[in-house]
Amino acid sequence: MNIYPENFRWSLPMKNNLNVNIDKNFNWEIIQKELRNQFGNEIYESWLKKIIFEEKFTNYILVSVSTRFIRDWIVSRYLDQILGTIKKFNKEIVRVEFKIENKLDIEKKDTFNNLDTNISFIKDSFLQYNRIDQNKSFENFVIGESNKLAFEASKKVSENISHYNPFYLYSGVGMGKTHLLNAIGLKLKEDKKVTFISAERFMYQFVKSIKANEMVKFKDNFRNTEVLIIDDIQFMNGKEAMQEEFFHTFNSLIDKGSQVILSADRPPNKLIKIQERIKSRFSGGLVVDIQSPEYELRLKILKTKVDELNILYSEKLKLSEETLKFISNEIRNSIRELVGALNRVASFSRIYNRIPNLNEIKIILKDLLSINETNITIDNIQTLVCKYFKISKNEMLSSRRSRYLVRPRQVAIYLSKILTTKSLPEIGREFSNRDHTTVIHSVKTVEKLKNDNNEISNGINYLKNQILYKKENEI
Ligand code: ADP
Ligand code: MG
Repeated sequence: MNIYPENFRWSLPMKNNLNVNIDKNFNWEIIQKELRNQFGNEIYESWLKKIIFEEKFTNYILVSVSTRFIRDWIVSRYLDQILGTIKKFNKEIVRVEFKIENKLDIEKKDTFNNLDTNISFIKDSFLQYNRIDQNKSFENFVIGESNKLAFEASKKVSENISHYNPFYLYSGVGMGKTHLLNAIGLKLKEDKKVTFISAERFMYQFVKSIKANEMVKFKDNFRNTEVLIIDDIQFMNGKEAMQEEFFHTFNSLIDKGSQVILSADRPPNKLIKIQERIKSRFSGGLVVDIQSPEYELRLKILKTKVDELNILYSEKLKLSEETLKFISNEIRNSIRELVGALNRVASFSRIYNRIPNLNEIKIILKDLLSINETNITIDNIQTLVCKYFKISKNEMLSSRRSRYLVRPRQVAIYLSKILTTKSLPEIGREFSNRDHTTVIHSVKTVEKLKNDNNEISNGINYLKNQILYKKENEI
């Protein structure tokens, strides 16, 4: 009998629950940054960021992720390269071990990691500087109620330089600020000298220039630009001297009619560690925000991204309307997360050569979904369907063929097929050992009924929601 709690381990040092490394020679944050640089933001955000460092052993490290699917995907696609990166910093590591950990505090760790990353990024960041992303233009920016104003303002700025000066765009993370800034940069780059830089990089350049005695070059560099775009200005919390320099650069640019464009995660007056006079200059131009994306916009973005993927890849991704609606409904907070979710579903389809069903999608996106963990079982489905049709479970599982029993049985079989990962014979077995051909017949019948009969179709949608969202008590 195991007398120790499940996670008990002998003689290990107490682990710091903030995921800070105990081994001074091993720095996961540096490795993460390097991974971000190597794989690019999209892959990093969708997959690698979720890897949580647990412990370092003599020649291997232990990391955790929240689901098996994420582990398998990372292992099959990226592990070699990840190990290569780790080896660059720690030669002795020859292996990475994964465990699946679904702790509630993973979220907390994530937040901590984020904060930490943001702060220390400056040190040795390879953040792209003046590298405008060709793929983020006005043309592929999808517009909805929540971002229409920001989009229109950005267009105006790109058409009418120095009319709205500075232009200050703010929103929470992953809402499209960098995309819009890029779009402006792309447009203006056609005939203007554009400098596009993150605030972190600005500070980094600044400090580097001081050290190298190259302040003149630094100043010239920035003061000669016709359009200065600084992304994520909230990270500009440098020393007085730096703010001083920034303030002068900023003023001289505006005075000579250059356009200054800024983004941040909050309005100017809420910025911290930034001098009042700078904040007040930020507020002096056009200040616009992007609001949380509404359902329609989320759905439209998903559809656009599916179309984009289908141009890129020969195997077409054919997601049902239902799947797209499910994802749009579930992932509400950030467009980056929404796009990341879609990428995961697309990855799944590519490895397994088929579209995941809703239950599988729930597993794939588990860590992004707000709904409670529901373990969808056939038994559960039968119970809910019986309640809905007001029949007993015995009746449903009996061999009687009265019409009032056949229909609910078929619906339950259909829902078991689309909402679980069970095979046809497995489903048959749970319905009193019915043959798998009966299962196929039921699925086909219900699919047809759904198309022809509104009442049935509504009933099924209702049941599906009950099952997915566990709202039994509302029945
Ligand atoms: P932020 O800078 O606000 O954190 P980003 O501009 O980096 O957000 O956007 C996150 C991701 O979502 C990017 O891949 C971006 O291209 C995409 N995205 C955001 N808004 C839109 C939109 N309206 N249409 C299409 N893609 C969008
Ligand atoms: Mg951004």
